[in-house]
Amino acid sequence: MYNPKSLKAEEFISHEEILETLEYAEQNKNNMPLIREILDKAATRKGLSHREASVLLACDDENVREEMYALARQIKKDFYGNRIVMFAPLYLSNYCVNGCVYCPYHHQNKHIPRRKLTQDEVRAEVIALQDMGHKRLAIEAGEDPVNNPLEYILECIDTIYSIKHKNGEIRRVNVNIAATTVENYRRLKEAGIGTYILFQETYHKESYEALHPTGPKHNYAYHTEAMDRAMEGGIDDVGLGVLFGLELYKYELCGLLMHAEHLEAVHGVGPHTISLPRLKRADDINPDEFDNGIDDEIFAKLCALIRISVPYTGMIISTRESMEVRAKLLELGVSQISGASRTSVGGYTEEVRPTDTEQFDVSDQRTLDEVVKWLMEAGFIPSFCTACYREGRTGDRFMTLLKNGKIHDCCHPNALITLKEFAEDYASEDTRRLANEMIEREMANIPTEKIREIARRHIEEIENGKRDFRF
Ligand code: SAM
Repeated sequence: MYNPKSLKAEEFISHEEILETLEYAEQNKNNMPLIREILDKAATRKGLSHREASVLLACDDENVREEMYALARQIKKDFYGNRIVMFAPLYLSNYCVNGCVYCPYHHQNKHIPRRKLTQDEVRAEVIALQDMGHKRLAIEAGEDPVNNPLEYILECIDTIYSIKHKNGEIRRVNVNIAATTVENYRRLKEAGIGTYILFQETYHKESYEALHPTGPKHNYAYHTEAMDRAMEGGIDDVGLGVLFGLELYKYELCGLLMHAEHLEAVHGVGPHTISLPRLKRADDINPDEFDNGIDDEIFAKLCALIRISVPYTGMIISTRESMEVRAKLLELGVSQISGASRTSVGGYTEEVRPTDTEQFDVSDQRTLDEVVKWLMEAGFIPSFCTACYREGRTGDRFMTLLKNGKIHDCCHPNALITLKEFAEDYASEDTRRLANEMIEREMANIPTEKIREIARRHIEEIENGKRDFRF
């Protein structure tokens, strides 16, 4: 039975509720009065339910789609301004005991060399990342209780935070590791992590079990209930995601929004982020063997729909996607992107991007400087800000600021201050010039005068060699 407040996976992601929703959506996809009502509700910026979003997804009308896109653009602008937060993934270990059929790290794959970074290697990778200008990482690892136990992950987090190379430092470590226990989530929280990210891969239980035939990840309920355990362990910023291409996208959007509704209903705060990964080619993996791939048009529609359904949730897109796709999605709702990613263990210290241990093909292969410059040319402010969780603005405290619009007084100056650091320490000449012009221009958009003045002072202080200011 469907119950968003239940703590049982099969009740808050009810298969029957999803099937009924999809049928309802199909029946109402041309019901213009209902669609009008849903679009009007979306325009109030309070979000949409999984049923409402599913009706819009089913509707093929071009005018409706254009209105949806316009709303997504507006909501993005109102809540996130023109800032784009930058991050990089850091792969710690590709040892894995799971049998995920779409992932090259699956344990039967004998072609890829297995590797786990030593603490010295973590240090070298982090210095390489700091030297590009990164301040925020998402650490990634396969699941292997012997080779990558939680103690190993915790040790890596400590190492990462301890490295101060030149003016560099990693100020926020987000964690993307397999579902674990409340006690382990508590230890991750104590280690000072930012967001705990775990992709659901698919909400369809039967497919989930077939796609994860062996290993601890096979357990659908344990995986699906992970975010509740993470929150119980004190982590209040959690990141959801579906790996699009595994199952039917209409099913997945519905499941994803039900998961967000569940977190809100039980914990009073929805997901901090939603990632939008699509299945990619990789060693031993051919995406064409999966029947549910989605094209760029549907991908854009999903992005816009998520934006208007959960306006308070950040959206992430990785270098799995090309520059062109990223450009389109940035407008429609994405607020965070990775740059200059290497998806192999030890990849950042290699001269040439290693492809033999990559988790998936990287489509966007530009340097961080190139991505930063490109963003500014398109009118976006690349932000290296990590202030919120360091100031205790997590979970519902963050959401309250976002909902009442006060966040601009923090995020906007923080974006400019951290862009200034990037410009001073890491940018090429062209990028620095563009950054300085942008900072000058965008200063005027800090809402409160007093904050504007302090921000101006900080910019000067950064020019004089000081670092790490934040609101
Ligand atoms: N091992 C952890 C787990 O099981 O959740 C997380 C780390 S895994 C390195 C990160 C994500 O990469 C997975 O959750 C999956 O969605 C994604 N992934 C795996 N294979 C992929 C592929 N072929 N193309 C694109 N993304 C893939």
